[in-house]
Amino acid sequence: MKTHYKLILSLVLGSLAGLFLHPYNQNEFIQNINSYLLEPLGQIFLRSIFMIVVPMIMSGLIVGVYQLTSHHGLAQVAKKTLLFTLLASSISVLVGLVMVNGFRPGDGVTLSPLDAEDLNKVQAVQKNVAASKPMAQALVEIIPKNPFEAATKAFDGEILALMFFSLIFGVALFRQKEKNQEVLWIPLFEECYRACMKIVEWVMGLAPYAVFALVFQSTFKFGHPILLSLGWYVLVVIMALLFQQFVVYSALLKWLAKRSPLAFFKACREVYLYAFATSSSNATLPRSLEIAEHKLKLSPEISRFVLTIGSTANQNGTALFEGITVLFLAQVYGIDLELSQQIKVILMSILAGVGTAGVPGGSLPLIMILTQQMGIPVEGMGLIMGVDRFLDMCRTTLNVSGDLVIAALVDDKATTG
Ligand code: ASP
Repeated sequence: MKTHYKLILSLVLGSLAGLFLHPYNQNEFIQNINSYLLEPLGQIFLRSIFMIVVPMIMSGLIVGVYQLTSHHGLAQVAKKTLLFTLLASSISVLVGLVMVNGFRPGDGVTLSPLDAEDLNKVQAVQKNVAASKPMAQALVEIIPKNPFEAATKAFDGEILALMFFSLIFGVALFRQKEKNQEVLWIPLFEECYRACMKIVEWVMGLAPYAVFALVFQSTFKFGHPILLSLGWYVLVVIMALLFQQFVVYSALLKWLAKRSPLAFFKACREVYLYAFATSSSNATLPRSLEIAEHKLKLSPEISRFVLTIGSTANQNGTALFEGITVLFLAQVYGIDLELSQQIKVILMSILAGVGTAGVPGGSLPLIMILTQQMGIPVEGMGLIMGVDRFLDMCRTTLNVSGDLVIAALVDDKATTG
């Protein structure tokens, strides 16, 4: 059976098993199977991928930038990446806001009290928000004082700093070459990158089982009532994500990249599944790189650069989700946001999309900041937490899809423009 069929089967079986066993989620035996078998299995899979993300990001970016500087001119590619990232993010937030204002899912929902676990999660996120830095400081800290420290804290918000260092390092290595000095490090980083990809290939053997385990946990825990009570809100998010994927991206691919959207989406099927199952742009990065190179036939230098940066800095799905969520919560609490406040939500959502780590739940601290800024009671997060895992799966799929679309746009322009 082909890998993506296996993954779909695991998704379906995992969610059905979770739903079926949800009524027995207090049963000790089933809880033990979940805690001692399925949960560790999902975690082993995710951690094995995360294990190679730092060396892969560093080597991928250093080699990518080095090659780009040699072949295409980095400045041009970087400029186009930035431009398309801002364009795609802005459109996605606007799509979200139009839908949430049109359908007003929050008008018919009443908040149910938080259970203890949700409350704990809310408090944990609140702590992160309290520790968050002002914008100017966050910008300055993109330059790491110590790249090794940035590497160790890559999943605690330092990943942009690590990327910044890798970019500069790649350019500096290129300058050595310009002076006709031999650059011994490049083959070394290339080997490192290939070794990372090999590890990913091994870990992927575990994917069908891990997907079952990960999906089972969400449905086993929350069952269908939580999804039903928030169904409308979830539906609006999904409709907006689908609109962005099939209307906006199709238009961008067709008109700007001159590619068939259908063929493009078909080639990316497997990546979408991985993104959906892992809820992590970073964990999906190895797969995206492979598909971009082998199936979409994008230039490896460009796709490495755009996809690696994009896995953290281009989160269209997250930006769209954040806009909808803030307005939904405002509706739930009966808070009317004026146009100027909605514009603020748009701008902050775009920035939040850029600054979100590509890990499961990476956007939650930023949503917290956004809701606080708008004067919305932070307890509303409990409502979101209940369905976040599922929506995370959906928005991550758009995040990753957006990265691939931008890589295609930049590739087209960089090679033919
Ligand atoms: N899970 C998302 C990603 O990895 C980030 C988020 O929206 O929480 O792309």
